[in-house]
Amino acid sequence: MLIRVALPVPLYREFDYLPSSNNTNSANTLTDSASNVAALPPIGGRVQVSFGRQTLIGIVVDHIDSNQSDVPLNKLKAIKQVIDTAPIFDLQMLSLARWLASYYHYPLGDVLSVMLPTLIRQGKPLDMLVTHWRILPNVSEDDFHSNAHKQKQQFAMLKLHGEHGASEDTLLLEGMERPFLKRLEENGLIEHFLEEQAAPRPVTLAKMPLTLNEQQQQAVDKIVATAKQAKYGGFLLNGVTGSGKTEVYLQAMQTILEAGKQVLVLVPEIGLTPQTRARFAARFAANILLLHSGLNVTQRLHGWEDCRQGRAQIIIGTRSSILHPFADLGLIVVDESHDQSYKQQDTLRYHAADVALYRGYQLGIPVVLGTATPSLEHLKLVQDGKLTELLLTQRAGNAKEATMQLVDARDTPTKYSDSPAAPTQQASLLPNLKGSQNTGLTDDTIVAIRETLEAGEQVLVFLNRRGYAPILLCEACGWQADCVRCEAHMTVHHSQLNTQQPSYLKCHHCDWQASIPLACPDCASVNLNAVGMGTTRLTESLHALFSNPQTSKKTYPIIQIDRDTTRKKDSWEDIYRRINSGNPAILVGTQMVAKGHHFPNVTLVCLPNADRGFLSPDFRSPEHTAQLIVQVAGRSGRGSKPGKVLIQTVQPENPLLRKLVRDGYQPFALELLKERKMLGLPPYTYGALIRCEAKTLQQATQVLKDAIVIMPPHELAILGPIDAPMKMKNSRYHSQLLLLSKQRPQLHQLLNFWWPQVLQLPSAKYLKLTLDVDPIGW
Ligand code: ADP
Ligand code: ZN
Ligand code: ZN
Repeated sequence: MLIRVALPVPLYREFDYLPSSNNTNSANTLTDSASNVAALPPIGGRVQVSFGRQTLIGIVVDHIDSNQSDVPLNKLKAIKQVIDTAPIFDLQMLSLARWLASYYHYPLGDVLSVMLPTLIRQGKPLDMLVTHWRILPNVSEDDFHSNAHKQKQQFAMLKLHGEHGASEDTLLLEGMERPFLKRLEENGLIEHFLEEQAAPRPVTLAKMPLTLNEQQQQAVDKIVATAKQAKYGGFLLNGVTGSGKTEVYLQAMQTILEAGKQVLVLVPEIGLTPQTRARFAARFAANILLLHSGLNVTQRLHGWEDCRQGRAQIIIGTRSSILHPFADLGLIVVDESHDQSYKQQDTLRYHAADVALYRGYQLGIPVVLGTATPSLEHLKLVQDGKLTELLLTQRAGNAKEATMQLVDARDTPTKYSDSPAAPTQQASLLPNLKGSQNTGLTDDTIVAIRETLEAGEQVLVFLNRRGYAPILLCEACGWQADCVRCEAHMTVHHSQLNTQQPSYLKCHHCDWQASIPLACPDCASVNLNAVGMGTTRLTESLHALFSNPQTSKKTYPIIQIDRDTTRKKDSWEDIYRRINSGNPAILVGTQMVAKGHHFPNVTLVCLPNADRGFLSPDFRSPEHTAQLIVQVAGRSGRGSKPGKVLIQTVQPENPLLRKLVRDGYQPFALELLKERKMLGLPPYTYGALIRCEAKTLQQATQVLKDAIVIMPPHELAILGPIDAPMKMKNSRYHSQLLLLSKQRPQLHQLLNFWWPQVLQLPSAKYLKLTLDVDPIGW
């Protein structure tokens, strides 16, 4: 027999090896004839092999007869070392890997690399002994010096876990710090020991569920019925913001958890996991595992094992959690399923919601996609009968859905400029700010903000652009500060209020920074102005209007929420605390605030320029813009008071925008679907995007031209090669080619044959070529 191995190399094939002569030592010591088979490294386990001059770690994907290899036996090398004597991946995970490889046209070995935690890829043993800490017998608080506050505090936290102590991972998650644990150990107060993780206790309810309304009950019943029949069912839980989708998840989960199965809850990338965890932990006494990008490699490995061994009962995770192995998964929930962070944008370009549906099908379990703003792809699946729609049309409890209103902003000046570089102006500028002129908000909007604050409520102003201003412009010659590495403007970072803060220019695409020039590099004019509005500038303008004791009788805090203000550890918690105090305040936020947050005292949401997306050339832009508007609007009126949403627009007659505001997201989206159908665009056609990245645009384009030449006869629509939307990024040029097919199988047949050949083109050497199946933007 031969061993077929998938290796982490960018080649569309697997490699055959002879069993190693010494692998029996590590595997087992049976001597009868069956042992020859038994001694083979198991399918789904890791082996170390030589590959060219390197030594690589691969996964055994098959055992084959020696005549099945297309390489002559005497050319085959033997396996160097068997790492796992039992599979780390079962056949189901292997078939998931194969499906991913064939659907996304990505090499199997590379797919497996994406699926495995780093330490596993590096060949680390799977021994799952973990460090535990416990208090030594007879030690008490009296054994501390009176001034060892922090030590005492950490000791008290450990004491809560009783005499058996707790695992280090658990303790670190609770906020304990390793140096303190070490110090306590050195002082002879606590000790550490290695232990196998215990099997989890059955899940129990920690709190009674809410009484569901009729629509929620129907949704739960349908999901649970599918689960009880142990069969696949894809559901689109289409519920307006605040309709209680989470309660539906929780009650559906209850049945599945009580049957001893695991539940996976996927959440979007940003900031959601801690809050979501709290909601699940309040309901269930269960082992809840959080999987997100902040974990280190050891935590990742442990999390992966906890999923695989079934110790994790509820798994809350971002995109890549869908690639984890599970001992006994009973339900997958994809929360905010329209969210674009579910699409991986490099290496294996999978969409986590699509993979979730595939896995549900594979495992015979229900999959629930929950959102207030379903993607057009998912709405089409409902129309085609492939997803069952579960509608929640009302807000749960007493909250009413917010009313949306368009505000004509054509007369409001949209060009705000001042000079961030001239310090002399700074002192005089703030008191001079007046009225709407420097906020980009119409007078009506400002009046509405004032009324809301005076009623003791909170306002959210949504602006999807951080920094002070998006452009630095020379008023004399029109020069603009552009990134030298990208086809993009540099953002002005600056603060009028906080003069301690340095002013600088930054590219938000490649992070390149520069100082603000004193004069225009082209014409030497000193008339350089920051043009346009970012969250910092908006915050400061609002500050002048509502927070400055010199100009207003009552002052209100303005809370800026974007990547710049939430970067520091704990800053989110701090912001949350300020918002949840319920005191009147204005929140200024980027799309970070659009997702899932519950701000019960926000009753007014203002969107000064969110309508811009309706003008963009990207055909997906109206869909994504509407999703964002509705999600942001959904932050309003979630408590007992009704909410209002003001959408400022310079195109008040835009029919799509009017439809969205008048009829809501669903009718709007169905309208968009009709348009897509007419134009032959996804989801009515199936797309693949080929991108080339090179040192010059000419090189990037050439390989795509060559690729078209070697294309076999086909019935696809081919668009390009054209420059990518940002043709230069990080000093590299990007060109692209789009394939659209009326039928999915035709697209895949072509890619199967053609894509590996494209990668072999002479002009493709040393270039980065990528293929994106079902791209979400181009
Ligand atoms: P969504 O995820 O759909 O936006 P949430 O699940 O956050 O909505 O629910 C919004 C609010 O409604 C929460 O405060 C939740 O506790 C409450 N809620 C949900 N279902 C019910 C119910 N059946 N009865 C009363 N309150 C409910
Ligand atoms: Zn100039
Ligand atoms: Zn740049």
